[in-house]
Amino acid sequence: MKTSTATVSIAGDLGEKLAAIAKAGFDGIEIFEQDFISFDLSPADVRKMVADQGLEITLFQPFRDFEGLPEGPLRQRAFSRARHKFDLMCELGTDLMLICSSVHPAGLGGIDRCADDFQELGEIAKSYGVRVGYEALAWGRFINDHRDAWEVVRRADHENVGLILDSFHTLGRKLDPDSIRTIPGDRIFFVQLADAPAIDMDLLYWSRHFRNMPGEGDLDLPAFMDALYATGYDGPLSLEIFNDEFRRGDAEMVARDGHRSLINLMDDLRRRSDRPAPSLPVLPERVDVAGVQYVELACKPDDISEIESLLTKVGMVKTGTHKSKQVARFQNGNVNILVNSDPAGRSFDLASEHGAVVSEIAFTTPDAAAAHKRALALGAEPVALPHQAGEQNIPTVRGVAESLIRFLDPTMDIWASDFEKPDGSGPAGTNGVHSIDHIAQTMGYDEMLSWTQFYTSIFSTAKSPMVDVIDPEGIIRSQAVTGQDGGLRLTLNGSEARRTSAHRFVADGAGATVQHLAFAVNEAVEMAEHLHQNGFSILPQTENYYADLAARFDLPEAFIAKLKALHILYDEDESGGFLHFYGTVFGNGLFFEFVERRDGYDGFGAPNAPFRLAAQRRMAANAPAG
Ligand code: MG
Ligand code: MG
Repeated sequence: MKTSTATVSIAGDLGEKLAAIAKAGFDGIEIFEQDFISFDLSPADVRKMVADQGLEITLFQPFRDFEGLPEGPLRQRAFSRARHKFDLMCELGTDLMLICSSVHPAGLGGIDRCADDFQELGEIAKSYGVRVGYEALAWGRFINDHRDAWEVVRRADHENVGLILDSFHTLGRKLDPDSIRTIPGDRIFFVQLADAPAIDMDLLYWSRHFRNMPGEGDLDLPAFMDALYATGYDGPLSLEIFNDEFRRGDAEMVARDGHRSLINLMDDLRRRSDRPAPSLPVLPERVDVAGVQYVELACKPDDISEIESLLTKVGMVKTGTHKSKQVARFQNGNVNILVNSDPAGRSFDLASEHGAVVSEIAFTTPDAAAAHKRALALGAEPVALPHQAGEQNIPTVRGVAESLIRFLDPTMDIWASDFEKPDGSGPAGTNGVHSIDHIAQTMGYDEMLSWTQFYTSIFSTAKSPMVDVIDPEGIIRSQAVTGQDGGLRLTLNGSEARRTSAHRFVADGAGATVQHLAFAVNEAVEMAEHLHQNGFSILPQTENYYADLAARFDLPEAFIAKLKALHILYDEDESGGFLHFYGTVFGNGLFFEFVERRDGYDGFGAPNAPFRLAAQRRMAANAPAG
């Protein structure tokens, strides 16, 4: 199936939209009439511009209030408007027009009256060599259900008249998508797709402001696609997304997200299909992440001693140095932190500009080449890094902001091929931190949907509902993305408020990147005691927090006293408890978290996030200037 998008889905003027749409890899566009009218080029020039971008115009839209009008001037006017648009379509080089169901106050409705109008229009369309497709708007005055629109098309019985389906109008009205299965695929001329979050509001307002990309909302797009596929429909799948964020967002990002959502939707459809699906793209499996093999911190030579001292206090041991780069490996249990201070690399530029930042995250996957291939098919940007003979050539894509995501698999033993043991290095520690529990990435709110989609389409993951975290100066939104078996846990945090800590981190730092690394420990209490003895500074919490803890949970007094003495935060879900605490901020706003999950606790301690943020703010306010 061809991929297409309505120009209305993307920000910018028509030229900017086309460039972004072409770059994202779409086959075609729906020209939204307003975008054309407000653009200062002739139809012939627009036609050439579209062709020059390697695109085709799949649809011209919308044509409103056509059918069911009373005999007389109103009806005649509707037909003459249509002739004007057919002329324009011929100049633009497109053969299909969308007619959405009428909301005209003078409309009379009536299936046969409407069918007669379409029959007559079909004859006119035929003389122009064009076709018309009829779409039931969810708020159409008489026709607001695709089953009724199909009945009009069926009775019009004209080869130039077909049906247009729009997932929003069907699913938004909670119509059963299986009712599509009785429509012949060749009578469906075009399909528009949009998702939307589950919000109970006026249909028109919901549709015009809150639509989003397939997979980003709560509508049952897979059921819609299954039903559509059963009809044999093989035409374009086109995004028609009215969304305030997208319209003021980055055109290239929104176009790339849109294309990714369609490829992902088709990939899922092919996997569910019980018969060969030659028109659907073939992608490698979703990537199962077994764990984080390493996280690389980029730092300037001046900062090495501070970072190394922090890692040593955490119990990590330097067990390797890179053979060809100034990179040290710090290890404990399954945790590997690379400290990169190589003056020749990109990491150095990052650190010079921003201070110590996370520059790379390497995931352990079953097949690194396949993972890379899937990521590229879903719009990830490939990055080629130099490597010496004998070292691994690690498949890499650009991740959040300027960080990189690297794919490793069991055939790639980087520790043997790329690293050597420094003189006098001891064995890796086994106490304390044993793995990376989760990675928290911070970004602008406008990028959250994009990165959520990136992770959920490329990797085998699920997202949990978004939560709002109260920062002393605004709201931070947090979206958790988790894989199976805890191999991949990410929290994506975004903020629009100008002064929240998430926003400051983004504005002051490397665009958007990792804000904290959470280490899994067996015994949080033991770890906190150990860190305290080693002079590692733990983020202090308030007396009031522990008084409240006693009220919130039924916990022994002595236990709460212990938590309080060590500044450990506590949470519970239906399965178990969660003990966690934080180190103080270093580098470019980075900090470590230490977490103990008990009995399958599945969350991230979100109820405690406001107290962490407030504590960090108190620390920053009390820090000496300079
Ligand atoms: Mg539509
Ligand atoms: Mg956390």
